[in-house]
Amino acid sequence: MLIDNHGRQINYLRLAVTDRCNLRCFYCMPHEGIDFLPKTHLLSFEEMLRLIEILAEMGVSKVRITGGEPFVRKELMAFLWKISEIEGIQKINLTTNGVLTAPYIPELKQLGISSINLSLDSLDRKRFFEMTRRDELPNVLKTFDTILENDIPLKINSVMMAGKNEEDIFSLVDLAKNHPIGVRFIEEMPFNGEGNKPEYFMSYTKIIETIKTKHPTLYKIADEANSTSYNYKIQDFAGSIGVIAAFSRTFCGTCNRLRITPTGDFKTCLYDDGKMNLRDMLRAGLSNEDIKEKLQESILHRAKDGFEAEASRKTGVSESMTTIGG
Ligand code: SAM
Repeated sequence: MLIDNHGRQINYLRLAVTDRCNLRCFYCMPHEGIDFLPKTHLLSFEEMLRLIEILAEMGVSKVRITGGEPFVRKELMAFLWKISEIEGIQKINLTTNGVLTAPYIPELKQLGISSINLSLDSLDRKRFFEMTRRDELPNVLKTFDTILENDIPLKINSVMMAGKNEEDIFSLVDLAKNHPIGVRFIEEMPFNGEGNKPEYFMSYTKIIETIKTKHPTLYKIADEANSTSYNYKIQDFAGSIGVIAAFSRTFCGTCNRLRITPTGDFKTCLYDDGKMNLRDMLRAGLSNEDIKEKLQESILHRAKDGFEAEASRKTGVSESMTTIGG
């Protein structure tokens, strides 16, 4: 078992397989995008597999694949099949924007994917374009339908912003009316590639208040262990509603997550600026045992919460979420 210096059990790795993305969400990166890195700077799939094996031996049992957009990296499916063979890995989850994902859903089902998080900020084509700077809503909806047809557990993640997609909140909530899915609203964070303050910030409490104006029967349900969302139900709805206090950082006390960025930076908190670079260690020829020791050391110096992690950074938060893995 892997336990950090605050007594939290660590069993979950979020691995960003690329920094590239086929959307340009305005809260994630500037208009022209960011300077994507040359491929040699990114971890290779072989390097990622070795790191997952090392972490699985240390006690990690769940891996979430994210990015950038995972499906813009070629040969992703072959990589996922290899992860599924790693001893100790019991769950593989995926976070995707759904633009390219639909054709891969049947194979993901075959692979035994545990669940998919689909990012979707608006069901209105015009507003979807304003948010993402790409006209891709029909492809995302195709992915939504295909996931449901294949009976894969699904969560929708929407970054909810005052004066931006606030008016979409009710149509997004309604997705949970007839479908047994989780619709979760995330607070905007400063990971936007420019270092701006969250401009359209809407707190999780404000999000709940807003939903209650139309659904006064919204009631709290029990959250799963280590859940980042506070979860609710509406009477007669098949699915659930959640809020993720990503900026207010209310769930750090039960955080069980580690992150590896596309370039191999190891993070023990989303808000830290990277504890060490695993790619460089692999390429310098360190043994698995040496790497395990370094990982253990970092995990024993984990920040108590996202505020402490942010305060310990050398520079303020300015990186785009696509370079970290959201
Ligand atoms: N491309 C995949 C996707 O869209 O789901 C995975 C990567 S994306 C960076 C993961 C999640 O981070 C998305 O749900 C996205 O909306 C969220 N995200 C990006 N920038 C954010 C920010 N500044 N604040 C809050 N969430 C953000």
